[in-house]
Amino acid sequence: MERREDWSQVQTLIEAAQLLIKARAVYKVCYIEEKIEDTIRIDGISLTSMVLRKNLDNVGRVFPFVVTIGSKLEEETRASIDLVQQYYLDTIGNLALLTTRNYLKDYLRSRYALDGMSYMSPGSLKDWAIENQRPLFSILGDVEASIGVRLNESLLMTPGKSLSGIYFPTEIPFYSCQLCPQKDCPSRRAVYDEKLSIEYGILK
Ligand code: SF4
Repeated sequence: MERREDWSQVQTLIEAAQLLIKARAVYKVCYIEEKIEDTIRIDGISLTSMVLRKNLDNVGRVFPFVVTIGSKLEEETRASIDLVQQYYLDTIGNLALLTTRNYLKDYLRSRYALDGMSYMSPGSLKDWAIENQRPLFSILGDVEASIGVRLNESLLMTPGKSLSGIYFPTEIPFYSCQLCPQKDCPSRRAVYDEKLSIEYGILK
């Protein structure tokens, strides 16, 4: 953000937020046992997505993961009665969460001597439905015991400031946003590519 007149307030909030953030990650090194038309099988568990399947055409090893920054910052954000402060704390939390996921990516790249890596998350595309959260969590074992993240009945994660997905090696970076036609999304990381959507078989 620009360093405007309320910058010192933001600085104070960043310092306070740092004490409330507990970044944690769980991941697993998995080998793909089977690839069929729109499904891959890992540890006997099936994940169904044409896009994921295509992204893993030439890949044998993948890294399912969940990352979180814990619940304390969220609780502090909810407890605040100042809407601007709530907005800043929420934004700080989102940035911390993305930083945590990037940290995991850099760690995996260095530990397993990989160059490029991309990820996909269940529910980010219609093609890889949110229902795939359950099998993803099953692959990772007891995620709640490991890092305190659990799935609720709507398949959303608690704490809310958590992210799940699968990292995989890629020569060319892949972003789900390339296949997502959502307009005016503030989190978009790549332009929508209709031709690519046809290549991936999710648009006729
Ligand atoms: S454009 Fe937005 S909604 Fe679509 S995949 Fe990217 S971040 Fe998600």
